[in-house]
Amino acid sequence: MIILCVFCEEPIVPSDRQTLQKVTGWEKKRRQGGANQIILRETLPEYAHALCVDDRKHGIHQDQGSFFKEESNR
Ligand SMILES: [Zn+2]
Repeated sequence: MIILCVFCEEPIVPSDRQTLQKVTGWEKKRRQGGANQIILRETLPEYAHALCVDDRKHGIHQDQGSFFKEESNR
């Protein structure tokens, strides 16, 4: 079974150090903010490259990137 990155849809190796796995859980609201502890943390069967997650964090979408590249080749 080939696992694909949820953002770029390229094959990904789950055991790789540069691979991130999606998690879900419950967090307790804190009055002063700050880091919240995630309770009942569960891993989801979704993987992404660390670089793709970084791009997302900075608001860059992989799809848009390739779209603009195609446009400039014409
Ligand atoms: Zn990726």
